[in-house]
Amino acid sequence: MSQKKETSCKLDREIESSQEAKTENQLARLDRYSKAKRQAEIHQRYIEESFDNYQGRQRLELISLYDKLTSCGHFLLFHNYYTIGEFRLVEANFCKKHTVCPLCAIRRGGKMLRTYLERFEYLRSQNLTVRASLVTLTVKNGPDLKERFEHLTSGVKNANQRIRNFKRGRGKISIFKSFLGYVGSYEVKRGKNSGQWHPHCHMIVLHEDRIDPKQLAKEWQEITGDSFIIDVTEIDEGDPVKAFCEVFKYALKFSSMGSADLLEAYFLLYGRNLIFSAGLFRGLKIPKELTDNLIEDLPYIELLYRYTSSGYSLSEYNGQKITPR
Ligand SMILES: [Zn+2]
Repeated sequence: MSQKKETSCKLDREIESSQEAKTENQLARLDRYSKAKRQAEIHQRYIEESFDNYQGRQRLELISLYDKLTSCGHFLLFHNYYTIGEFRLVEANFCKKHTVCPLCAIRRGGKMLRTYLERFEYLRSQNLTVRASLVTLTVKNGPDLKERFEHLTSGVKNANQRIRNFKRGRGKISIFKSFLGYVGSYEVKRGKNSGQWHPHCHMIVLHEDRIDPKQLAKEWQEITGDSFIIDVTEIDEGDPVKAFCEVFKYALKFSSMGSADLLEAYFLLYGRNLIFSAGLFRGLKIPKELTDNLIEDLPYIELLYRYTSSGYSLSEYNGQKITPR
């Protein structure tokens, strides 16, 4: 964990300003969505084959999940605000099953990324002494996903209690006292070598004093009893996006998970809040809708894309059907 991980951000983000870059962004975005839909189709096939392995409520839930995944994102309607080169996704039928649907995970992750990044930038503009680090906390791998996941969440709750105790002038000295705020997400995958479950969490932590990794590892082991594996990487002030992406990417590592594991994790995580926050990051509202905001008072062209076996392709241009060549 000590080595700095190179991560690419697969979430939606709009940072380039030139019209050319925006068009390239849009093409890359459609390509990303096509890949996500193809991955969703693999999940769909597995879910369909698994119907008979489940009974009662879980079986009904699976059938409903299958239907929602199948219809999710089969069309995407964009507005192209051509005077400024901007593309906005204004209509789609999302399933919102983001723990199992890669397309909805991208959209939801992008919304969270923007919301928390804006808060981060605001805080930095107000107080130049606030620093931020990407912190990863793990527990020892194990065969029982539920037991391991609950072990991790109770460790995080314990750490949070230490912060509260410190604020009230109670409890012993803790490294967590230097945490001014954080937002984090739980992630579940199989360990690469052990093949056992490996739940862990990534957090963006705001702090003033440097976080000493050795001290954090020591205290985390004291809390969990079985893990001192942590990572602390101070965030590059010039490019915080990559670190935020690490927190808001999928809760389930689709690429490292077979569909059977995915369903086991899906039922376990169903209805649970996988994002947690405290202090300066607490209470931010994430938009419920997965579409983009409209831009008022600017002319636009409507672009309707449909998903086919070869990915998303333009189906209608301003209401006119496009004839495939
Ligand atoms: Zn979906």
